Amino acid sequence: MTAAAHSTVAFDGRFARELTEMAIPWQAETAPDPRLLVLNEPLAAELGLDAAYLRDPDGVRLLIGNLVPSGATPVAQAYTGHQFGWLAPRLGDGRALLLGEITDASGHLHDVHLKGSGRTPFARGGDGLAAVGPMLREFIVSEAMHALGIPTTRSLAVVATGRQVLRETLLPGAVLTRIASSHLRVGSFQYARATGETNLLRRLADHAIARHYPGAAEAEQPYLALFQAVVAAQASLVAQWMLVGFVHGVMNTDNMTISGETIDYGPCAFLDIFDPAAVYSSIDETGRYSYRNQPVMAEWNLTRLAESLLPLFDNEQERAVDLAQESLAAFRRQYSAAWSAGMAAKLGLPDGLDDDVASPLVDEVLSLLQQGRVDHTLFFRSLSAFARGDTGPARSLLPDPSAFEAWAERWSALGPDADAMDRVNPAYIPRNHLVEEALAAATGGDLEPLGRLLDAVTQPYDERPGLERYAAGAPGDFGAYRTFCGT
Ligand code: AMP
Ligand code: MG
Repeated sequence: MTAAAHSTVAFDGRFARELTEMAIPWQAETAPDPRLLVLNEPLAAELGLDAAYLRDPDGVRLLIGNLVPSGATPVAQAYTGHQFGWLAPRLGDGRALLLGEITDASGHLHDVHLKGSGRTPFARGGDGLAAVGPMLREFIVSEAMHALGIPTTRSLAVVATGRQVLRETLLPGAVLTRIASSHLRVGSFQYARATGETNLLRRLADHAIARHYPGAAEAEQPYLALFQAVVAAQASLVAQWMLVGFVHGVMNTDNMTISGETIDYGPCAFLDIFDPAAVYSSIDETGRYSYRNQPVMAEWNLTRLAESLLPLFDNEQERAVDLAQESLAAFRRQYSAAWSAGMAAKLGLPDGLDDDVASPLVDEVLSLLQQGRVDHTLFFRSLSAFARGDTGPARSLLPDPSAFEAWAERWSALGPDADAMDRVNPAYIPRNHLVEEALAAATGGDLEPLGRLLDAVTQPYDERPGLERYAAGAPGDFGAYRTFCGT
């Protein structure tokens, strides 16, 4: 393969060109000894990138920004962030670059982004680097989310740089090549608003509308329509997280996209036992981003987005605030509707079932799971077997079978659709103990466990013989799980 092989895909620098005030042209640090650890071939194909070229030395250099394709203008993006509620006005890409945008065969634009590519002017005290473990972790979890059907940024590749990264110990460094429909965040709008330049804010909003919600351009109030579209996308997204038991862990405003894609997999994890108060992040001392708080935190972030957009809603502040509040009020309705519909699907309930019947069934089963400290994923998957007459697996998960029997009798009487349940209740999620096992092996140079885990979680609904240990719950000695961000 020649270096021209990638040129069938043209790179653009649209964000860099249209929003120069928010883009600092920058170069990735040169990696001393780049080595491709994992390449997402199906994603490369979707994007029209030649996988064979990407495996070549030049392709690997392109994946980490050491070979800049023509048309690309690598930039560090500026954004603000409310981090755990505290405002950091000038956050930005401290260890990442937007390499450029590419257009896929169906005309959709995608950001190609490098995470761990070296210090930028936004690095503050950080080293600008990332370690192999956390970048593979983002690869696994983001690809699992995609396979679950949940909107997310994607992972194209992880390349080991050959540079050591100092954390608690010295660790091998890596760059993640991340694909997103854009990297526009709530924090991008906070940044534009804080400059006081309404013109910049408007250009950013126009850019967001063109990329994500072109229909909003036709609305009577395009910027209000943009806001409403983001509210709807986030209500749907967070409902999907809750339904699958995903805890993002660091829902700061810089980690919430305008597109409605999940972004920035740091201290995230999936629930094992169903515990609404679950927190996995080592730095989330107050439980701000616990499992159950996620809808409230999403709404909090959307309020910050609304505040940022106010000057575009109406010249008169009071009128602008009214419009924002009306639109924001939709979040709770949309979230509840998405969550209720999703829970009904998880239970295989017939369409159009009266809410007076469905609601108590949902509430009661969740309280059984919580009281019994039952594995969330295993339970819902075992319910379809129960519906087919194999009642043992579900029964065995509950410490108080009699309360469950009473519930199951009412539920079974509604004729749940077991096949439909298997299409929404995954058998395989990136379980914390399996992720840790794969990362430890990969950090030591053995990529086999990573490959096997990826194989399981990228077809999460398709239960396959031989993968039993990937469907099983955490071993009893695994203990309380903690993850760390900024690594
Ligand atoms: P995150 O928690 O990954 O969303 O990052 C929050 C902010 O810290 C962003 O501005 C990152 O670019 C920055 N950051 C995280 N880790 C590093 C690092 N090792 N070096 C420089 N900046 C970093
Ligand atoms: Mg971030």
